[in-house]
Amino acid sequence: MESVISEGNLKKHVRFLKRHLALLPASKQSYDVNRLAIVFYAMATLSSLGEDVSHQYKENIAWIETNYIVRNTDVGKLSGFIGSASLNIPGTMTLSLPNTLFGLLTILILKDKQFIDKKIDRESLFHFVSQCQLRDTGSFVSVLDYHTNQPSPVDAHDLRFSYIAVAILYILGCRTESDFGKYVDVIKLVEYIQNQACDIGGFGTLGEPHAGYTSCALSALALLGKLDAIDPDHKEQTIQWILDRQVSNLGAMATNDISNEWYDENDHGGFQGRENKYADTCYAFWCLNSLKILEPNFTELCDTALVKSYLLDKTQDILTGGFMKNDEEDADIYHTCLGVATLRLIDGRFNGLLCIPDDVSFE
Ligand SMILES: [Zn+2]
Repeated sequence: MESVISEGNLKKHVRFLKRHLALLPASKQSYDVNRLAIVFYAMATLSSLGEDVSHQYKENIAWIETNYIVRNTDVGKLSGFIGSASLNIPGTMTLSLPNTLFGLLTILILKDKQFIDKKIDRESLFHFVSQCQLRDTGSFVSVLDYHTNQPSPVDAHDLRFSYIAVAILYILGCRTESDFGKYVDVIKLVEYIQNQACDIGGFGTLGEPHAGYTSCALSALALLGKLDAIDPDHKEQTIQWILDRQVSNLGAMATNDISNEWYDENDHGGFQGRENKYADTCYAFWCLNSLKILEPNFTELCDTALVKSYLLDKTQDILTGGFMKNDEEDADIYHTCLGVATLRLIDGRFNGLLCIPDDVSFE
């Protein structure tokens, strides 16, 4: 059993990640609307693996920054990031909250403080975040309507976008409730998050807890400095709910029952995102990040050696590099990012609230 990524596998992971960045130069303008997300996952993971991306990709910073746009609209000046240059369409609102977070984090990883401090038009970016909040529920949509610049009526408004909105404000300097309160309705937002708490622990929609939503809810409250808004009983139930998501073939928690259609002996040590689901690399991150927020000594509560061996022995792709969702799919950039993030989180070297290595500086 391995306990860390071996030198040989590390090289494969780096090659796997760099292949995703091979089309970066501005001369090869991509039409992939998720380009910025892929760039973020690759940069964050390379940086987590010890690569000096701020030097290696210095020439690409300008390309990434062209995805930041400022628009004069009938609701005032708005700014943020678009997913790729193909979405820079005059007269059409194509900014999105997720791309704005991916763009800002990528620039932080690439250490272009100058851009964050001087080129970002903060007031218009804050205004964009503010404009994405639904006044009645306190939750956020991810995009505005193309033409009215109001929250898009067809967009989802769940815990993911509440988290993303808070993370953007945090990166741009908000620290206290009054800082956040200048741009968004913090009271309504916290109420919205509290309303997503599930009776059996965790957070989710329609009363069903989900590890991804739980991580978003807890990370948002932590960044807002409002973790005390969690009811103490719900906190304990949530810790237990997360611990119960680790799949084990052994002992009283064993799911070793062939009548259970969700049983897979290769899931041993991994985490599932909901009850009665297979384990998946990304849920190891969402579960452990949630646990760490509620209990800083989280490594004493669950079997981290078993999670590591699940990741390193089952979902690490030692042929192509990267991590897979489970032991059956091909490696992909999202699960690679969260597999590596989980290993670093367990080692105490990851900023799980923002999903970046803990040595990325904000100052
Ligand atoms: Zn997954």
